[in-house]
Amino acid sequence: MSKLLPIIDAVSGGSGRGISYYSAGMKCARKVVLDNEAKDGRLTREAEGQAPREYGKGGSEATRVGTIYHALCEQWHGKGITFPKALPSNDLYDTEYHEAERLFKFYKKSCRNDPGYWGHVEAVEMALPRGEEDIAALAEYFQFKGKLTALMDMVVRIDSEAHARIKLDHGITLPGTGLYILDHKSSKQKANTGQWDMSMQFVAYQLMYFACTGEAPRGMIAANIVRHKKLEAGKSFNVHCVPWEEAERGRLALTTMLNVSSGLIEMSMPNPTACFDWFRKCYHYEQGNCERV
Ligand code: SF4
Repeated sequence: MSKLLPIIDAVSGGSGRGISYYSAGMKCARKVVLDNEAKDGRLTREAEGQAPREYGKGGSEATRVGTIYHALCEQWHGKGITFPKALPSNDLYDTEYHEAERLFKFYKKSCRNDPGYWGHVEAVEMALPRGEEDIAALAEYFQFKGKLTALMDMVVRIDSEAHARIKLDHGITLPGTGLYILDHKSSKQKANTGQWDMSMQFVAYQLMYFACTGEAPRGMIAANIVRHKKLEAGKSFNVHCVPWEEAERGRLALTTMLNVSSGLIEMSMPNPTACFDWFRKCYHYEQGNCERV
């Protein structure tokens, strides 16, 4: 039976033309184009009524849990901040909601049940660019004419008390007090922190924030819950920081990636080496949407 859960548009996520879009373009630009057409219902086979398999309905279980978990965290930290996306959930998300809630309860405990644990919350779900000025600033900073967006989970200003308690609780010494971008993550296994050090998202968000506001963050924090059956303090919650200096070093790589990827997407360039990644056939290969040449 359908019931109302106290949250959220759990289907959507992402910012539109964010880093994951351009990263996907580097993997297979044709897939990015076809994915968009499928979402819009523009693919020929679908238009011809050939009953394609259900496409991308809410993503994987991990994605759905992650999205709801994110929203719960941000709602908690953003007390007093109105969310534009307050929709009832439904049965499709019932199981995932309860799993996300389990993670969220543990997250709250890991933050001493204090929404101000990370310091002063400057923003939750901060979208960039905020307007024409930001668009121009991003274009200039990255020498990139395409659309570029970001949706940051949280922007926090960490004071000395918060700095000390984060060190005490999570064994991490942040580069200093000041402004940080924070990303809520959930994973099934303990994350390899190197994945964030190498992450274009961690580079892009910091540089985009700087380009649009003129203030360089001290770093970007990954606050990651590991989905252990039994969530344990000191084991199931990891905190990692990629400092600003690392982001700055990644500027050229990011600029190159944005320009190359958007060019490939414009050409709808196929990459036949990506059709069977992770031993799974690409959806568009299965459906005959792509001739791979
Ligand atoms: S079938 Fe291969 S080339 Fe075509 S979209 Fe999929 S991954 Fe790209």
